[in-house]
Amino acid sequence: MKVWFLGTGTSQGIPVIGSNHPVCLSSDPRDKRLRVSVWMQWDDASYVIDCGPDFRQQMLTSKCVKLDGILFTHEHSDHTAGIDDIRPFVFMQGDMPIYAEDRIIESLKKRFEYIFEEENRYPGAPSVAIHEIDHNTSFSLAGKRVLPIRVMHGNLPILGYRIGDFAYLTDAKTVAPEEIEKLKGIKVLVVSALREAPHETHFNLQEALDFIDKVKPERTYLTHISSLMGFHAEVQEKLPENVFLAYDNLQIDI
Ligand SMILES: [Zn+2]
Repeated sequence: MKVWFLGTGTSQGIPVIGSNHPVCLSSDPRDKRLRVSVWMQWDDASYVIDCGPDFRQQMLTSKCVKLDGILFTHEHSDHTAGIDDIRPFVFMQGDMPIYAEDRIIESLKKRFEYIFEEENRYPGAPSVAIHEIDHNTSFSLAGKRVLPIRVMHGNLPILGYRIGDFAYLTDAKTVAPEEIEKLKGIKVLVVSALREAPHETHFNLQEALDFIDKVKPERTYLTHISSLMGFHAEVQEKLPENVFLAYDNLQIDI
């Protein structure tokens, strides 16, 4: 399985519009972060997790020409706002399969009513095939088992996913012990770490490191990073062995 980090930034992306923060002004390409998403490929299969406002640019940069589906973690705009740009895939392939919990589907229906309309559809509108996920039930995706992991984003229950030896958890603040159990034995973990200072709804760096200690994966990549975390090169120096800051367009094999 190949995982391509399409975006590794927090909700505003880095640089932040109008910001003079030194990280926003950095010339290191690893300090430029689009909104979070990963592209996963195995055999002939091609899936992304989340579809934020940078989706179009991410598909062009990664030269993704076929997409078999989108798995959503939650409804926040930095994870969903790019859904209109599935149109080129829909024109080539037909309805785009989307995988999400009921609450997320309902939110998408409100915000992108025209995508879900059944009558008088605009001919160029995107179309989706809905696959509703139950957070306690695993499902199959192109020959692999996908295990949803319940993650708390502050008070909001959201999903992470375990696919074989790989797990992707973003926007986490707390994870119950029984959900951590579901991650045991994974080789590669991707988990969010916003910055060093605490935040109401996101792991800060220390909370992410404590979480990694509980899961004990072979390697971990941190994502959903704010400019307040600091320069990529400096932060990476401080991290434990086998913990890495992800950066946009990093590609890993699992
Ligand atoms: Zn987010």
